[in-house]
Amino acid sequence: MLVKTKTILRRQKEDRLPFDNRKAHDIKEVEVKYCCKPMEEAFREKYIGFGEFNVDRPLNWDNNVNIFHCSPYPEGAYWEAMAIKSCPWCKEEVKIQNIETKSYKTYEGK
Ligand SMILES: [Zn+2]
Repeated sequence: MLVKTKTILRRQKEDRLPFDNRKAHDIKEVEVKYCCKPMEEAFREKYIGFGEFNVDRPLNWDNNVNIFHCSPYPEGAYWEAMAIKSCPWCKEEVKIQNIETKSYKTYEGK
């Protein structure tokens, strides 16, 4: 399967320290070409997805297709992700292709 992505680079203000490289960009899927029907269903049902599980995430820097697992706690649930490099059903390689990189002048749009 092929996941096309867009990367948004965010430059932090110079006075913001320490600089966290992981949060200096945001990766979003733009288009997904599924390798087989079960993979498409797994994506739709969110067993598998691109990046971190949380759909309301402000920033995602996980550049992988992941299998998600929920660990429930009394205080709430914690979602874990395990990256996959090939389809568990048809064995086709998972390819991630960044098709666009945008740059923001300031961090978090400020
Ligand atoms: Zn497949």
